[in-house]
Order: sequence, then structure tokens, then C-alpha cells
Amino acid sequence: MTSAFDDQDHEQDHAQDPEQPVKHDPTHDDTQDLVVARPEGLYCAAGDFYIDPWRPVERAVITHAHSDHARFGHRHYLAARPGANVLLSRLPGITLQTLAYGERLAVGNTVVSLHPAGHVLGSAQVRIEHAGRVWVASGDYKLDPDPTCEAFEPVRCDTFITESTFGLPIYRWDPPQSVFDGIDSWWRRNAAEGRASVLFCYSFGKAQRVLASVDAGIGPIFCHGAVEPLNRAYREAGVPLPPVRLVSEIERKDKAMFRQALIVAPPSAQGSAWLKRFGDYSDAFASGWMRLRGARRRRGVDRGFVLSDHADWPSLQSAIQATQARRVIVTHGSVEPMVRWLREQGLEAGAFETQYGDDTDAADAADAAPGDATATAQDSDAASQVLVAKDHDGPPQALAAKDSDAARHAPAGQADEPVAQPAPRDDSLPGANPR
Ligand SMILES: [Zn+2]
Ligand SMILES: [Zn+2]
Repeated sequence: MTSAFDDQDHEQDHAQDPEQPVKHDPTHDDTQDLVVARPEGLYCAAGDFYIDPWRPVERAVITHAHSDHARFGHRHYLAARPGANVLLSRLPGITLQTLAYGERLAVGNTVVSLHPAGHVLGSAQVRIEHAGRVWVASGDYKLDPDPTCEAFEPVRCDTFITESTFGLPIYRWDPPQSVFDGIDSWWRRNAAEGRASVLFCYSFGKAQRVLASVDAGIGPIFCHGAVEPLNRAYREAGVPLPPVRLVSEIERKDKAMFRQALIVAPPSAQGSAWLKRFGDYSDAFASGWMRLRGARRRRGVDRGFVLSDHADWPSLQSAIQATQARRVIVTHGSVEPMVRWLREQGLEAGAFETQYGDDTDAADAADAAPGDATATAQDSDAASQVLVAKDHDGPPQALAAKDSDAARHAPAGQADEPVAQPAPRDDSLPGANPR
């Protein structure tokens, strides 16, 4: 058994020079979708591989290392090279082949290449070319500048498979620099008053983006133990981060050390005894969900900074338009409003049922320290936000009507999920967890 991603045993040898245009393929059928939703994940039959599968498969192309997209159990992994360190730190021991962004690889009867998605370090859109057709699966993406990863690259395609985590008109992000200015001034004021600044954010991606973007001259920076391995992977990949010390290096009696400090911690640390060592502190949460006043209130922090690694509503629209795709398939997030908007634009639009989250619940679960009793409450809190924001106001099967494979292969029981959540408006989050 080789470790090559494309070691399939083809009845005919369709191996192609990736630099050449795809030749005629006798198995090619124009009426078949290049990517379909199967119980294991999004499947490309012409290449016999899956994209971000949630059940174990032979060949998995991974868009990025967040835990709802990159899971253990696949035989072969293919991912973008800049994300290799992070992926291996999260999934040690996997059989991983990497591609530089834009590098072309023949996989089955297709040619696959990976293109920057601007979401986190190493995040990639998957471009699949087969018999003259091009499909692109976005994974998670954002268009806003981020010093810790390559900028989103618009890729022309016939069909674009897009996320829609924040696919509602209420989601519009301020320029990132103004958000970081806000974080800096909150930290500066706390430091002047001798109070620690504890900033909760997801340990992979958001934490490094914050570290790379704040004014490190304000004071010392510390991080929680869940953040440190990711910092290391980013540094190994060549992403410059300011000096950051582990909170656990400091003796508990030396809490004066924290009075001028910024402390970056995962959401699962909120409410835990771990915070006691900081004495007097102010806390804040950095997330796109902080756009919702209800989410801010329920987080119970002093400050909410609206900072997301996902595209906001205008960015989703411009990213989709830039692909020039005539057909768009929505995977997760606010699916129905996005499909409606796409159809209003005259595009063919549908949805795939997937198990991708919004990184909130996934990250919280991954960050939760064993035995951390606060993690459960945090997770369900996050999950309720996810469910509300999904805004499926029609049955997923109806949405997926054009994607008959999605409907046919929808995992059992999904039709019974609560799908009639009201569209979230600011301040309208229900207090109860819908689960
Ligand atoms: Zn993600
Ligand atoms: Zn995701």
C-alpha cells in the first residue's frame, strides 16, 4: 500500500498530466453532479474522494483543520501545505499528502487543486476539474484581511459549493482594524487600572489572528494551554506572532504579573476556576456571534468584540459573484435565506445536508479540558446559537430537491430535527436551548 493520495486501482488508466486539459473520459456523464452529498460526506465520484467527510473514508480532501471539517479515521488525507503543521497537531499520525496552493494533482478522472480560502492558516477551497467542467467547494472562508493566512482567492467555476454561516443581512463586519483598535483600547484601559484583560476566542485561528493583530506594546501577553500548541504550529509555518507566555508558567502567588496583561483563552475556560489566579480582571469575547445582543448577554462578558473568520453577508455575496458560477449549492449556516437570495439573482441554487458547524461548537468541544465542568454549559450555549442562526425555515429535503443525491442520502433522522427556527434578529434569540 502506498501512501499516495491517488493510489486507486482503476479499471482503465486515466492518469493524466495535471498540466494538460482533462481528456475525454468514457465514464463521464454530463447529467451527473460532480459532487454529491453522501452519508459519509461530500463525494466526488469521478475522483473517488470525499471533501471534509464526517465518516471514515478512503480518500479525504480536507479544506482546513477545524474539527468539524478534519476528523480522524480516513485512510488518506490531502490538504494545503501551509496547513500541514496545524492539521498534524490536531490529527497526529494521519497519512497526509499536501499540495501547494494552485498545484494540480490528478485524482481518479479529475484534476484537483487547492486555493486559499482566507479562513485560517492552510484553509483551502477545493477546485475539481472533470471533462471540461469545474466545481469549487469553498469550505469555510472570509474575505477580510488576516495576517495569519493567505487571502481568499476567487476561483472561476461552473458550480460553487459555499458555506453560509453568517448568511443573513444583519451580519456585516466592521473593518478588522477597527475591531483590533477596540480590543487595544479595552486592554490599554484595563492595564492602566491594574486589571487583567481576559479575551475568550477559539484556540485555532481566531486566537492567532488576535495575537498577530493586537498592539503587543501595551503589555505582556499570556495564553491558555489550549492555545499554545496552535501558536507553535503557526510559528513553525512561518506566521509571525508576538512573544506569548503560558499562564501556567506563572506561580499563582505572582498574580500581579497579570495586571497589565492580555490573556487569550478558549471559551471553555469561561466561568472556570482557572480564572481565579488573575484576581481583578475584565473579560471579553471575540466572535461573529457577538453581533447578536442576545448572544453577548448570554455570554455574560464585559465586552463583545464582533470578529469572525467567516464571510459576512456582503462578502458571501461578492465571493459567490466572483466565481461566476451559474449554480450554487449551500452547505451550512443560514441556508434558506442564501438559497432564496441566489435564486433571486437568477442562479440555480440548492443545498447539501452536511454536518459542518460554525466552528463555535466544534472549537468549544475541542478546547474543553478533560474534567472542566464548565465546558458542557458553554457547549450547549454555543450550540443553541448555531441552531438559531441556521434559520432553516423549510425542510432541508425541499431545499435539496435539485440535489436529489443530497435528499436521498440525507442521514436518517435529520428530517425530524427542529427546522422551523425563527430568523434571528438582534435581541430576538430565545433564552431556551432548542436542544
Ligand atoms: Zn472553520
Ligand atoms: Zn466550519
